Amino acid sequence: MHKILMVLFFIFAVIPAHALSVITDTETEKLLHKIIAPVATAANIPESRLKIHIVNDADFNAFVTGGEDVYIYTGLLMRIHDVNALQAVVAHELGHTVGGHIQQMSARMEAEMKRALMIQALGIGLMVAGGNPTLGAGVLAGAGGVAKQSLLSFSRDEERIADDLAVDLMVRANINPAGLLTVFNQMNDMMGATESKISKHNTNHPLTNERLKNTREKLKNTKHDGEFTKYSNDEYELVRAKLIGYLYPEQRILDKYPYRDTTSPAIYARAIGNMRRGALSGAAQGTRTLIGRDPKNPYFFELLGDIEYQFGHYDDSASAYEMALKLEPNAPQIQTALALVLAERKKPNDNARATELCKTALLREKAPLTYWVLSKLYDDGREYWAMAEFYNMNGNAKKAKQFAKKAQSVLKPDTPEYIKSGDILSGPEK
Ligand SMILES: [Zn+2]
Repeated sequence: MHKILMVLFFIFAVIPAHALSVITDTETEKLLHKIIAPVATAANIPESRLKIHIVNDADFNAFVTGGEDVYIYTGLLMRIHDVNALQAVVAHELGHTVGGHIQQMSARMEAEMKRALMIQALGIGLMVAGGNPTLGAGVLAGAGGVAKQSLLSFSRDEERIADDLAVDLMVRANINPAGLLTVFNQMNDMMGATESKISKHNTNHPLTNERLKNTREKLKNTKHDGEFTKYSNDEYELVRAKLIGYLYPEQRILDKYPYRDTTSPAIYARAIGNMRRGALSGAAQGTRTLIGRDPKNPYFFELLGDIEYQFGHYDDSASAYEMALKLEPNAPQIQTALALVLAERKKPNDNARATELCKTALLREKAPLTYWVLSKLYDDGREYWAMAEFYNMNGNAKKAKQFAKKAQSVLKPDTPEYIKSGDILSGPEK
């Protein structure tokens, strides 16, 4: 049995309510990238520069900063059932960028917002963070308020223009722009009751009906030849189920995915819910069913690795993660998870392999958990540097500098870790 089980439930309690956290999860990130890249390309954002951030917040919201960073709220993903509608939301946000509405957000504000965001890994990251609240999350006292305030407010004209541009962008990407209508209809369902009470003059956001009417008009005047690209909702359904499994309380998971629902998304959500509350046998059983149905899905193996880790079955956990990485080699969070298991298992060669995995993961994505695992693996002074990076990512400049100093007192001056420690030492105080 594993001690992390006990603390797992408290993870959300340690995150301050005012701050926004960003979820890292390879499956979710890769799928959203695939869905959004065509719209981004139409807005002249090269696919390689597009960065998608998943914000753990119940609001029905998304925004774009700096032209290349797309922030999508889990509240949006939970409620939007359709890939095409999600593309429409992002197209609208990109419409603000293309339309030049974005400059209201100063560089300083953007930097502050980024500082206020905390990084929180799903899966094993969440479990480990349960034992150590600073692990998954860069908690910045006092900075979080910035992010939660309304970041940008656009005029009604700007909203209308962004809707029109969204239609153009989607058509250019060969995506059916009718997804916008789906979104407006859904917004009407959600807030129709409250909106009807708001005076037209008191709100920056045009009433949804007005946007619906305008967009219908725009669609009438938009020409498109041939068929639009069809996007399947299957993978999206799995991702939504995963987020619901991780973020909703048990009862809400079961309301959404009752036992009679034997679809893969339902089994996925319930397996994750079971894992979270420590019902590991049920979690493992569900996950094996999913693997039986789709043995090529790397994320089912990732989940199995998470569950076996919690059981304390290091060998089974490691081989599940190995399988996941075989199916999806570019997965920094799975690499980190495997490294963590190997670091705890301590068989011959485990240390070397785990170190390699962390290095590969960091090339693709800098994550506090990866530095933390690395600090457990080094024993030659570099562990102090890894801890310095870890604290630096958590926004704890004081501790980061302490460890960087310690690293420099041990390491040779021409080593990369010595130099990187110097960068941390010369960084801002807070
Ligand atoms: Zn807007």
